[in-house]
Amino acid sequence: MKLLHINFLSFFLLDFASSLDYLVNSRICSSHECKLTSKRILENLDSSVDPCDDFYLFSCGGFKFNNKIPEKNDMIESLDLVVKELNMKSKGLLMDDTLLSHGSKTVRKVKEMYDDCMNDDDIHVYSVVEEILVEKLLKLNDQLNTNNISSTFKQIQGIQLEATRLRGLLHLKKEDQCDFIFEDKFPYVFDRLFIDKYSVVEDVDAARHLFDSIKTTIEQDTEIDWVSQKSLNSIQKGLRRTRYNIGFPDWILEDDQLDREYRGGSKHKEWGMNIRQVNAEFRWGFKGIKADKQEITVPVGILSRHMFNSNVPSHVNYGAAGFVSGHELSHGVQFWIKRVEKDTVHEKEMCIQGQLEEVVEPQTGLSYLNARLVSAEAVADVAAINASFNSWMKTRDHESLPGLSAFTPEQLFFISFANIWCFNAKDDRIRKELSTPSDHPFNYHRVIISVINSPDFSNAFHCKPTSKMNPLQKCIVW
Ligand SMILES: [Zn+2]
Repeated sequence: MKLLHINFLSFFLLDFASSLDYLVNSRICSSHECKLTSKRILENLDSSVDPCDDFYLFSCGGFKFNNKIPEKNDMIESLDLVVKELNMKSKGLLMDDTLLSHGSKTVRKVKEMYDDCMNDDDIHVYSVVEEILVEKLLKLNDQLNTNNISSTFKQIQGIQLEATRLRGLLHLKKEDQCDFIFEDKFPYVFDRLFIDKYSVVEDVDAARHLFDSIKTTIEQDTEIDWVSQKSLNSIQKGLRRTRYNIGFPDWILEDDQLDREYRGGSKHKEWGMNIRQVNAEFRWGFKGIKADKQEITVPVGILSRHMFNSNVPSHVNYGAAGFVSGHELSHGVQFWIKRVEKDTVHEKEMCIQGQLEEVVEPQTGLSYLNARLVSAEAVADVAAINASFNSWMKTRDHESLPGLSAFTPEQLFFISFANIWCFNAKDDRIRKELSTPSDHPFNYHRVIISVINSPDFSNAFHCKPTSKMNPLQKCIVW
């Protein structure tokens, strides 16, 4: 109840606090986006917890009181809210009648066909949806890679969720069914309409700048004491040869190129994922890219609200989108070091694995029995928070957020990072995550492992060397 009280009071005091802030500090951001960001951070914050004792509970303790677990689900997390908003924004994009005079012939044609779909009898639309569903369900089954037992649980879970979502489409309104058909057949048209409608170009330009600054930090600051000259050369070469897909492919904004894409014979390189997906990846040796070339994709989906916004102070963006960019770049660094000296990377993973197994998740009192399978991802997290923080420090602004001026920008950087991982989960789900780990560490562990290995975090919150979030034994990554 105490939390509810604090959160209610935070809402109520937000405007009052921000006007008070102005009296004492003129560098408080006043944009609408800043107010929304403050509201979200205050809702999640539990100020009764000492940040040096449990930084996850301090930053995210309030999340579960404001975000109930949806029926038929066992968890909700911050990123689900980003997905929900993106899905809402992707709906009805073809309803706009001005598209009939759009500069792209493809968009005009798709709009005409969409109108036909909306006027068509239900049985025909239903059968097209069904056809696409069968195709997608078969594809999902093909994707199941049972060679890797560790990730099988997560894959099955993901496939089951997607299958339920897809089957649910058969019962949707006509508009949603038509959206589904056209999004499946003309994804780039949807991407283009999304970019135009929500004017994301400016934000994406700024996010590309943020990404480049983190890349430069990794390029210039990776110290020779931590890695050998051989590894350093491999990192430099890798960074140069990687293809970076940030935001969306620029050709989508050109009408003639969009038309050419659907006329056939296009030379555009496909991205590894849809640009409205809330995800990011580092990949190598795949179709269209030579084995010695790599690609990092951070699409507009994961750069949207909560993660990046040009109208909020830089510490919010570097803490969230900066961390994600740093994480993918760090996968690159892992890959490039591994190519020349496997043992260095293995050593870092072993160090983090030991720490992961000691962290006790407070809701269940459980910890990992064996965290080997998630240690590589945790190494990327630890490296990412360092790279993003160091990069932000080079250009840091001193702006603060309304109602949060009691925190320094350094503290808000870390709070913004933790906010990506807030969750509300049933005990069973947490138990499964910890007993059959695959891929990334559980949300709670992602926050704790990242901050306990960051001296910048301890400095920002003045954590004593004896506190839980500032252990003497740190795993130094790169
Ligand atoms: Zn990763």
